[in-house]
Amino acid sequence: MSASTTVAAPLSTPPLGGPSLPQERRLVTSIPGPRSQELLDRKADAVASGVGHTVPIQAVAAGGGVVVDADGNSLIDLGSGIAVTTLGNAHSKVVAAVQAQVAQFTHTCFMISPYESYVAVAEALNRITPGDHAKKTALFNSGAEAVENAIKVARKYTGKQAVVAFDHAYHGRTNLTMALTAKAMPYKSGFGPFASEIYRAPLSYPYRDGLSGPDAAAKAISLIEKQIGAGNLAAVIIEPIQGEGGFIVPADGFLPTLVEWCRANDVVFIADEVQTGFARTGSMFASEQFGIIPDLITAAKGIAGGLPLAAVTGRAEIMDASHTGGLGGTYGGNPIACAAALAAIDAFENDGLIERANEVGEILTGRLTALQAADPRVGDVRGRGAMVAAEFVHPETKEPDAALTAAVAKACIADGVIVLTCGTYGNVIRFLPPLSIPDALLNEGLDIVASALAAQ
Ligand SMILES: *Cc1c(COP(=O)(O)O)cnc(C)c1O
Repeated sequence: MSASTTVAAPLSTPPLGGPSLPQERRLVTSIPGPRSQELLDRKADAVASGVGHTVPIQAVAAGGGVVVDADGNSLIDLGSGIAVTTLGNAHSKVVAAVQAQVAQFTHTCFMISPYESYVAVAEALNRITPGDHAKKTALFNSGAEAVENAIKVARKYTGKQAVVAFDHAYHGRTNLTMALTAKAMPYKSGFGPFASEIYRAPLSYPYRDGLSGPDAAAKAISLIEKQIGAGNLAAVIIEPIQGEGGFIVPADGFLPTLVEWCRANDVVFIADEVQTGFARTGSMFASEQFGIIPDLITAAKGIAGGLPLAAVTGRAEIMDASHTGGLGGTYGGNPIACAAALAAIDAFENDGLIERANEVGEILTGRLTALQAADPRVGDVRGRGAMVAAEFVHPETKEPDAALTAAVAKACIADGVIVLTCGTYGNVIRFLPPLSIPDALLNEGLDIVASALAAQ
């Protein structure tokens, strides 16, 4: 097949409402091909070097379980653009909702002239987030912005200032969220000074700390009480499963113990579900996996099928603590993004996507666990639903093996499979496939991962 920007003939039955792209891995050039390379050269000249990329292609179409590049290569997508296109790229319900809205009006600014879709998204989030207490929502543009606003709201409500984040945390790249994020390179190095009154507590990391959930929580709580004091603490913020930090699933009892301590000490418990939200973990929100009801939840990534939207949802009395005009932004809750979110939430609730996340998770966990049994360099396989990772180590010492991880990821991409790495030590490959991926394609992607590992 020759290199071309034309994509091949449509499939008659696209999976789960995506565009009609052939669901196949197809390499017609090496990666990057000439057209992709041309774009990467322009990028190097025109785009700030600080904005990196993982997969050296020029994307021209995506849907189901593939991303197609300008050279005609079709890559298996095991990353969903970092857990964003959970529904599948260009999902038909999202496309229709966006097309209808964009022809109606594109912006009024919700703080100037309110419109219905913003309110409907707030109602939907108040309904589908954990807990049946009275809730309210505010909408923003990015995960980092949602996190910033959750902290603002918690400080205003409690009249306190300190905030606790955890080891291996990732909460974004703005100034306050850099302070909350645990990893220096590439997220913080040289970008200080950082916001004050941010403290860091130890996480539960069962593969490495060997502690029970309650014991790990007791360690964190002791540090908080000794070094900060509950009387000064506005909020504890934590990802129920660490995302960028390595898909670390805390031991049973860790999160419930923290929530209970927060309740007893007038501290707002914020679950940062920007990566874990919207069916990804096999429930609508990961908090449900651990039996916790957060005071506030931040959401973004999967919320709107790829359009930029973010939210803070939580207890009405906390969300209402801010004076009018204290929260908002020019674009927050843009009507096109809200239309997309309503379509996406409809699909999450009514098209069997939670069940599908669990099916995808069974395939991922089954295949990766088999790999672990056969190869001691796969130290740990962990996750929930369709959010699963493998941690690579030197078998004798369990020391992180970042070089092996990078080599496996690079080989996968060269062979037409998009995988993402993560982890404080850079030794984790995370799997976040779109739920629209056909089983056969997912299995083929995992075959490539296995052979990439075997070749190292
Ligand atoms: C991605 C992410 C963020 C930041 O979201 P942006 O939209 O990139 O600002 C915050 N928290 C978590 C848990 C994330 O995964």
